[in-house]
Parts: sequence; C-alpha cells; structure tokens
Amino acid sequence: MRYISTRGGMTPKAFSEILLSGLSPDGGLAIPQAYPRISRETLATWRDMSYQSLAFEILSLFMDDIPAEDLRAIINRTYTAETFGSDDITPLKTLEPGFHILALSNGPTLAFKDIAMQLLGNLFEYTLAKTGEELNILGATSGDTGSSAEYAMRGKKGIRVFMLSPHGKMSRFQTAQMFSLQDENIFNIAIRGVFDDCQDIVKAVSNDHTFKQAHRIGTVNSINWARVAAQIVYYFKGYFAATQSNDEEVAFAVPSGNFGNICAGHVARMMGLPIRQLILATNENDVLDEFFRTGVYRPRATSETRHTSSPSMDISKASNFERFIFDLIDRDAVKVTGLWACVDKGQAFDLSGTPFFERIKDFGFVSGSSNHSARIATIREIYQKYRVLVDTHTADGLRVGYALRENNIPLICMETAQPAKFSESIQEAIGQEPPRSASYEHLEDLPQRFVVKDADVDAIKTYIAERAG
Ligand SMILES: *Cc1c(COP(=O)(O)O)cnc(C)c1O
Repeated sequence: MRYISTRGGMTPKAFSEILLSGLSPDGGLAIPQAYPRISRETLATWRDMSYQSLAFEILSLFMDDIPAEDLRAIINRTYTAETFGSDDITPLKTLEPGFHILALSNGPTLAFKDIAMQLLGNLFEYTLAKTGEELNILGATSGDTGSSAEYAMRGKKGIRVFMLSPHGKMSRFQTAQMFSLQDENIFNIAIRGVFDDCQDIVKAVSNDHTFKQAHRIGTVNSINWARVAAQIVYYFKGYFAATQSNDEEVAFAVPSGNFGNICAGHVARMMGLPIRQLILATNENDVLDEFFRTGVYRPRATSETRHTSSPSMDISKASNFERFIFDLIDRDAVKVTGLWACVDKGQAFDLSGTPFFERIKDFGFVSGSSNHSARIATIREIYQKYRVLVDTHTADGLRVGYALRENNIPLICMETAQPAKFSESIQEAIGQEPPRSASYEHLEDLPQRFVVKDADVDAIKTYIAERAG
C-alpha cells in the first residue's frame, strides 16, 4: 500500500515513512492511494476471529511494509486482557435487542484513544529501534489526549514525551492520571495559562524547523494515520458482535470532535463492511453537524469554542475532516487544496448546491447535536432503564443515534469514555458518584511529578533541549 497526500503534493510513500507524522509536507494528510476491498469470502472468515487476529488481518493491509511476524507480535503485545480489561478488548453490551454499546474505553486512561495510542507506542518503539533514532514527542493537552499518549509512551526506549497542560485547569482526576506517572521519559509541564497558550507554544516550537530537527521533535496528534487505522478494527469487531450474518447492515453512532473515530468508520465502510448509517454526534460545538446538515463547513475561532460537559469534543475545527472531504469530492487534491486555503484562513467553505453535498447520504452519513440538558437526561434515562451508566460523550452519541437510527437496523453506540472521569455530570444526572475500579481508587493521593512554567516559548525550548538528548 502506498500513501498519498489529500493535497496531492507528496510522492507515494510506504506506511513506515508516514508513521511518525501523518502530515505531509504540502500541509495535507496522508491517506491510502486506494482502500483495500474486503470480499464477502474474506469477511466470512473474519467473523469469528479474536480481536488480535482481526487486528492483524486489517492492519497488515495498511502497514504492509512491517514484516508480518513483527506486526503480529506488536499487535499481540498491545491488545491484551491485562491492558484492556478483557480478551474481547472492545466488548459489546446489549441494552436491548438491536440496541448496543461498544465499549471502547477499558484501556489505561479510560478513554477510547487508548486503543489507537497503545498501538502507536509500540509501533514507534519498533521503528525507532530499527533505525537507532530517538523521538521527542511534544504535545499540548486539556486532558484525554495527553494522558493517553503518556500511558502509551511511558517506559518506551528512544522516546520522551513533553506534555504541556494548563496549570490548575484540568480536572483533579485527569491531573492525577498524568502527573502521577513516575517514568523518567515522561515530562509533565504545567503552563501558567490556558490550553490555547499550550497549543501556541507547540505550534511555535514546531515552526522552528532548525530546533525541531536538532531535537527530533514529533507529535502524536489525531491526524496520525496509524491511529485512524487502529480504530478501523473495532468497527469490524462491533459489526460481527452485533449481527448474526454478513448480510445484515448496522448503524454506528459516534460522538465526534476531531473526526478521527468516525473517519475510521468511513474507511471500514469503504472497505466493504455493511454499514448503513454513520451517525455523527456533536455537542454544543456543532461545526461538523452543521456541515452534514447544510453543506457549510465553518471552523470556529477558539474564542467561539464553548466549554461543555463533554469536553473532549470541544473543538473549533476537525483535524481529520479533510480525509473525508477528499473522498467525498472524488479525491480531487486541487479542490481540497482550494477548500483548505479557506479553512486555514479561518474562513468557511460551502458545498451546498454542488453534487457532492447530495452524495453525502451515499456515504451513509447523518448527523445531529446534543447539549448539556439532553446529555444529563440521557445518562439518567439509560441508567434508569438499563442500569448502565455512561459518560457524557457516550450520552451525546446515544442521544443522536437513537433519534436518527432507521427502523430494524441494529444500532451500535460507541462508548468513548468511562463515567468515572466525569463525576460532576454523573452526580448531576443520577445523584450519586460513578463507581471507580480499585486501581484508580487513590489516584489523587499518589505523588505527582511535574514542573510549572510560564507561557514562554524560549524557556520551554531550553527545558526541552536540556533533556532531549
Ligand atoms: C477524543 C474523544 C472524542 C472525540 O473523538 P474524535 O476522534 O476526535 O472525533 C469523543 N469522546 C471522548 C471521550 C474523547 O476522548
């Protein structure tokens, strides 16, 4: 398999060449030159496979320059019952016939990002060991992504993580989750400022190409193709778990922010998985819902981005969205470049009135948005009716999925985080604290390892340079 750029400016590359970044030199995103098509015969042989075997079958199509036995070993090391709580890795919970939740959040940080990030950690370590190179990952987080990256990279040879977070602005749980890591290769930097200050520092450092090269700075953001690829696996797994035969179609409801999770669903569908509907759910930050309803994609300014009770979906633009648009507009890289020239200037583009907008339904997409009162009511209803407690993001997916599903099509709602991470909202919904598994019980009491710094690019550069080796 070869990878090209959504903006057309990259000579086709092998997987290992795009693994570490995912962003191509022309500013576009790496994407397969063509998606593999899964025949009905192959799909039949996949139905009863374990998560690990299924992951190998799927990922070996996308990561075909990694020797098969090495890839199999990486997968088997990543997807263990020890790390993800069960052999199923992503178990399906059936609320009632035809209405399911796919549990994606049983990894170390209790959010679905672990599924991709844990694999990324092992893939990075493997490729770096081959070349003898080192990598210093620099990131900014307001919560989930940072901790998921740290838990994936902790203790990995040749890798250090420098993670910036707004000092005193994450939840106690999230702070403790990250700062309690004692691994020598993890550097938590609390910035006196807000999340945007952290992100600005990352951008400034990344734009200093000399510094970036000298200290081998990389990122693990959601546009990384390997993360999308890893997420394709659970669409197949969830489909098989919710159906009896490969003649059936299903709907997936996906709480969305950066369009990473649902992009994997789109690719699974393009590969031939019988997905009838991809139901995209946003919170009050409804930039994606607006596009799927109106054809207008209007990225917001950060000042317009609202802080909500499903905070991991508080985005102003959706970094993976460009991959879907590339497919939607017939893989016309010139057109994509034109559209993102607008986006990069903070302007909107409008596909309404074009044949492309009509075609959205052919890709299975429908969308809706949720809000605080709807999400709290959903958490309460699902708890009262099924005795199942869901988190705020999952509640957004359930809400929108339930409203937009077609009759007689099994609905699979993606569970993207555990309720334990969002105790305030759970308290509001059901009047009690969410349960916590034993291993997290005293999380906030553990010793914490972090430094506090001003939002000063040069000071951060110095801090990194002194430790990056
Ligand atoms: C990141 C995240 C999302 C959004 O996923 P995208 O791939 O960015 O669309 C939803 N829920 C939770 C809990 C998350 O951490």
